[in-house]
Amino acid sequence: MEIHELKMSIDLNMAGQEMNKLIHKLYPICRSITGNGFRQTLRIVREYIPLTMHEIPTGTRVFDWTVPKEWNINDAYVKDSKGERKINFRESNLHVMGYSVPVQSRMSLSELKKHLHTLPDHPDWIPYRTSYYKEDWGFCLSHNKFRNLKEDTYEVFIDSTLEDGYLTYGEYFVKGQTTQEILLSCHACHPSLCNDNVAGIALTSLLGKYLSALSLRYSYRILFIPGTIGSITWLSLNEAIVSNIKHGLVVTCVGDPGMATYKRSRIGNAEIDIAAEHVLKHSGNSYKVVGFSPYGYDERQYCSPGFNLPVGCLQRTPHGEYPEYHTSADNFDFVKPEYLADSFSKYLSVLNILENNKSYLNTNPKCEPQLGKRGLYTTTGGKSHTVADQMALLWTLNLSDGRHTLLDIAKKSEICFDKIHEASRSLLKTGLLEEQGL
Ligand code: ZN
Repeated sequence: MEIHELKMSIDLNMAGQEMNKLIHKLYPICRSITGNGFRQTLRIVREYIPLTMHEIPTGTRVFDWTVPKEWNINDAYVKDSKGERKINFRESNLHVMGYSVPVQSRMSLSELKKHLHTLPDHPDWIPYRTSYYKEDWGFCLSHNKFRNLKEDTYEVFIDSTLEDGYLTYGEYFVKGQTTQEILLSCHACHPSLCNDNVAGIALTSLLGKYLSALSLRYSYRILFIPGTIGSITWLSLNEAIVSNIKHGLVVTCVGDPGMATYKRSRIGNAEIDIAAEHVLKHSGNSYKVVGFSPYGYDERQYCSPGFNLPVGCLQRTPHGEYPEYHTSADNFDFVKPEYLADSFSKYLSVLNILENNKSYLNTNPKCEPQLGKRGLYTTTGGKSHTVADQMALLWTLNLSDGRHTLLDIAKKSEICFDKIHEASRSLLKTGLLEEQGL
């Protein structure tokens, strides 16, 4: 099966439900940029795609960075003098600041407060905080709970380890007809947060599962990595094969109710940029396209000047632009199967363009060929062709001069790529177009 056939036949409702099911499995895990939560996540993803788990030792130099120590956590709490858990890691893994060093101590409320993080503007929500590169410890809690803490001597316990170990990442390679690759990259290092980033892991997993069953032009490299340090590590270890990457997308924030947003690659007008914008423009939904900036997710590394890869980011509401971002409110009230399904369909549409965006030659370029005698033109309505189909045929014939790809034709004609692609297939069948090579 080819990707355009999958696009036509897929039950998006079921795809949304399947991603939602996976999100429910992944959500409770306490992930971080290293450690057993990350490994457990990859083992669950393996139920969908047979990815390879890579383990890179602590201390490995990766460009200007060093693979950090591995962090794991079993339990953590703050107890009052009556022995009651006032802050309890078992209730939410967001309660502990990620990468907190082990602690066992007693302290006053004022001493404890130096290590507490809250969101006064959203007093019911727990913030998500980390301290990867500075050894520290902390607890996060709702502001309401914080205000109810009384003067007391508190017992603080964080049963964590921060030791030499490994940085883990997952990689899945799907072989296509060419060695040229499409990169799909998602970060998988956040704990119980739905949109950022469990939704991205789920969408990428399902996409990988479908892609592995298709007949593909490109090879696909799918990465599940810890944010920032993961892409830096992967690029550092795989510099020799980076030039195979012809297009790429960073997958994140794909399950919220906001409109689709595409962040361009640093190149700005790469094929991926034009394809993604085309899909959003013809989706019938509101959308936004924003220029590249050196902030955000792993596109920062893929688009660093020394690599400058054509990698964009296809998301819904960008990070930081929704109040639920990096808080306990990024949960199942916020992420819904229908939004996941909509994002999935947009990803399929973009990949469909990349897979089929070729240029052809019109074999009858001197004046228009007669379409009627080839069964491509119907003057009486109601048959198989609409006016849009006719226009797609005419545009495709006119611009198939070897200098325009199908996407160029779609853009120029303002007809959606699928119609132009369909026209090209009809014209190829009747011999009015011929392959020009890839
Ligand atoms: Zn994040």
